[in-house]
Amino acid sequence: MPLIVVTGLPTSGKTTRAKQLHDYLAARIDDAKQRLHLVSDDSLSISRAVYDLSPDKVPAHTRSANASEKDARAAVYGAVKRVLSDRDFVILDGPNYIKGWRYQLHCEAKAVRTPSCILQIGCSPETARRVNQERLRDCPDEAYEPANWDNLVFRYEEPNPMARWDSPLFTLIWDDDAAQTRKTFDALWEALAGDGRPAVRPNQ
Ligand code: ADP
Ligand code: MG
Repeated sequence: MPLIVVTGLPTSGKTTRAKQLHDYLAARIDDAKQRLHLVSDDSLSISRAVYDLSPDKVPAHTRSANASEKDARAAVYGAVKRVLSDRDFVILDGPNYIKGWRYQLHCEAKAVRTPSCILQIGCSPETARRVNQERLRDCPDEAYEPANWDNLVFRYEEPNPMARWDSPLFTLIWDDDAAQTRKTFDALWEALAGDGRPAVRPNQ
């Protein structure tokens, strides 16, 4: 069953949408035959600091700024791989901003003959920045350091619906209400779990 890769800017609403999708799928799946998993940086206790490339923020004993993010991706990869199968729905909530990384996840799904898709959380950088600033003030543990936030936005590689590893691509924007969100989730369900879903061949 599908791997659903959530992607979006930092503090763009990814976790909020991932939880909504989790609730939607929990109500739709056949518990006797299918299982549902939500894998995220939070569920794996991955700190937002792993994305910070500022030289002065590299934790002690870490090889380089890049290494902490690579180690985090390896942990996410392992967690996805452990549960992904033709019986399991897996929602991966995280930045997932590197196209090579999304390609790797797509291949992993193919290897177990299950479809994958991207759920892009569309949000203007201004809105996402405001959310981060509010968090820095109200709950700093859930915020990104401003330089880390800026750098993640700069590094973000937009999904491209023409690329097979970024398709099918579903998008929710900040203002999508419950009815629109449900429509998008219905379309996602039809494409990936409905009767007409295409067979997945590992060599495609
Ligand atoms: P991310 O996982 O991308 O960091 P979150 O889902 O944690 O973002 O959301 C950040 C904040 O924005 C939360 O306080 C959340 O309640 C709020 N939020 C997220 N999406 C929306 C939305 N579509 N409309 C209004 N508020 C939202
Ligand atoms: Mg989040």
